[in-house]
Amino acid sequence: MKILGNQKVRQGLLESLARSGPASSYLFLGDSGLGKSRTALWLASALNCSAEERPCGVCPSCLKIAHSNHPDVVVQERPAGKTGIGVGDVREQIAATAYRPYEGRHRVWIVAEAETLTEEAQNALLKTLEEPPGTMVMVLVSSSESALLPTVSSRCRPVRFQSVPPEELWRELEERGAEPEQARTLAHLARGRPGVALGWLENKSLWELRCTTLDFLSGLHGAQLWPALETAARLDKLRAGEEARQSLAAVLDTCRLFYRDLLHLAASGAEGAVVNRDRLDDLRRLATEGGVARPRKALELLLEASEHLQANLNGRLVLQRLCLHLSRC
Ligand SMILES: [Zn+2]
Repeated sequence: MKILGNQKVRQGLLESLARSGPASSYLFLGDSGLGKSRTALWLASALNCSAEERPCGVCPSCLKIAHSNHPDVVVQERPAGKTGIGVGDVREQIAATAYRPYEGRHRVWIVAEAETLTEEAQNALLKTLEEPPGTMVMVLVSSSESALLPTVSSRCRPVRFQSVPPEELWRELEERGAEPEQARTLAHLARGRPGVALGWLENKSLWELRCTTLDFLSGLHGAQLWPALETAARLDKLRAGEEARQSLAAVLDTCRLFYRDLLHLAASGAEGAVVNRDRLDDLRRLATEGGVARPRKALELLLEASEHLQANLNGRLVLQRLCLHLSRC
């Protein structure tokens, strides 16, 4: 299992395992996309691997964990369609902690998105965290420490994940088939989060949506009424079926990053912080033409559009309004 970045975290975990064995509970903290869940599975492999150099990745135990069919390793996820993990969802696992492992040395219970555990569910976990069965290791994976009750977080060993330097990320993306320019852009867009960059790389339609949106934006300013409406209609057409809402959110996100780049460039002229590396020519041109006023206004309009979308306004109308106003600023 190759995990990008945070090598030191895994090294530290291995050293502490060799020194004093596993902690009964860990709290993996950091932004989403940094490899926390994959590292939790890697830890489960290290704890149950039958080879001398652990985790080997090829023994029956490591393979079962990689294929999600090891009887002692459970990944608890937020149930589909629910906003959080409730007390009913954790009860079954709490009961299971009383049993010894079926075939491994340790039962490993990984809770993904632990920040969504309800307060009731967290309280239900307290007893397990206070008096853990000797063979069980719990890993709470969370993008927010403050979402957890202090009584919960203080009983776990914290492990903090850092973002991956862009150079490291773009080299890896190139190795996985990205064109050099796309790799650089993705590494910056993802702001050091490998999971986010790989998500873009694997989801071709999302990448195309982003590129098309930026093509439209570059030609939108100063456009007449009709071309502006046409842009809105074409953006609206890109949104398809059930994913229409997420696609629109992705379009707005792309716009936001573009104008953030533009504001930065117009204000300071420094190109180092630009994330849309493949659009530097357009950004330079627009920064010279419109100064800081345009991106500031555009960012306000985008904030409004997001609010309208959250208030369940019709997506097509939100886009029409946005394109019309953007064309005039
Ligand atoms: Zn192994």
